[in-house]
Amino acid sequence: MIPEEPDLWFLPLGGTGEIGMNLNLYGHNGAWLMVDCGVTFPKPGRMAADGTVHHRGEPPVQMADPAFIADRRDRLTGLVITHAHEDHVGAVPYLWPLLQCPIYTSRFTAEILRRKLAEFDLLHRVPIIEVEAGQSKQIGPFSVQWLALTHSIPDPNALMIRTPAGNIFHSGDWKLDEQPLVGHGYSVKTFTDLAQEGVNAMVCDSTNATVSGHSVSEAALRAGLLQAVRSAEGRVVVTCFGSNIARLHTLASVARETGRYMGLLGRSLINMSGAARAAGLWDSADQLINSSHLGYLPRAEVLAVATGSQGEPRTALRRLAAGSHPDFELEAGDTVIFSARAIPGNEELIEALITRLKALGVKVITAEDAELPIHASGHPAQEELELMYRWVRPAIAIPVHGEAEHMETHADIAKATGVPRAMVGRNGDLFMVRPVPGIRRQIAETGRLGWQKEVLVRVE
Ligand SMILES: [Zn+2]
Ligand SMILES: [Zn+2]
Repeated sequence: MIPEEPDLWFLPLGGTGEIGMNLNLYGHNGAWLMVDCGVTFPKPGRMAADGTVHHRGEPPVQMADPAFIADRRDRLTGLVITHAHEDHVGAVPYLWPLLQCPIYTSRFTAEILRRKLAEFDLLHRVPIIEVEAGQSKQIGPFSVQWLALTHSIPDPNALMIRTPAGNIFHSGDWKLDEQPLVGHGYSVKTFTDLAQEGVNAMVCDSTNATVSGHSVSEAALRAGLLQAVRSAEGRVVVTCFGSNIARLHTLASVARETGRYMGLLGRSLINMSGAARAAGLWDSADQLINSSHLGYLPRAEVLAVATGSQGEPRTALRRLAAGSHPDFELEAGDTVIFSARAIPGNEELIEALITRLKALGVKVITAEDAELPIHASGHPAQEELELMYRWVRPAIAIPVHGEAEHMETHADIAKATGVPRAMVGRNGDLFMVRPVPGIRRQIAETGRLGWQKEVLVRVE
């Protein structure tokens, strides 16, 4: 199956019909372009009485099986990574040896990627081309332009993929945040200009398509976090996604205002803050204190930010709850704040963690029971989707990054804003955008690979 000169195709191998392990292909004139290459986590397993979850021996790290494109890698012109979340970049170190193409991405994402590749001894083999928002790169027959958007991580980009056969707008993960606090914002004109030019299809994030209204801005969380920290008496531990550098900025300012010293607990947080510093996104990070000092400070002067908001094993918060963290022990009267929401499937793990913390006498504040918002989603709710469709005016809407229910609702929203056609499918379906729109179902082999004992294995 080879795309010819008049063809413009979209073919997802991962992330369409599910949330996680994004792996998208675009086909035109004998060539393929890959967009994103992420991981996912095993489907929720059975939880034992001690709170551990058994995944029936499944590998803990899983990703889309790239066999379709690995078999055609002489036609793969490049891999574009839209942003540094694990579901978009996490599989690169595992799959790149099967793909062996250059990688194009923004500066912060490149920082994260280089750290991952170094662990796999791949750093000097993988060509990484850094691109700034607004720039275009010719990648085989695809002219790809990076467009500034906002999300819950620095440097997220949408893509305008131009070919002589037609144009596709690929949204990546996004929200409309007027005050993202870190990195670039977005401009409405970027998107209304695309409509002037003509967009054949818009491939777009469905995560929150069933949520009404508009996502909360990162800047709006300061009041809620300040209130929660100010009312605390002992130590405060805040858990959030380490990649949300804006959240770390806000917490650092809350720590200053409440007379607390802030330290980071957990490898991924330290890794992310290092990447943010290297990318010039967080100058004041040096005001953080080394976490090994936290245990010696008066309890009322401690604000620790910890990994483990999803209750995952081996994370800092799980260690604190188990009394096995090397830096300090939680005591009755301390407070743990969840500045994050549960990723579907993790509810039981999080519940078990909260029960454990409460048994220690720790006060727990979650995003659901806080008086003011202390967490903001990084994905577009219905009003934001409507705005984007009115700005971009594509001929076809292709919902991705969601389960069937999210994608169906997303398609209805697109049609209600005047988009003439929506195509809803799943991994392995070929979406023909040009010359004649249509879907060919299940033409590409799909599946999951897992990383187990240093090798890739098929997961059924
Ligand atoms: Zn994502
Ligand atoms: Zn994301």
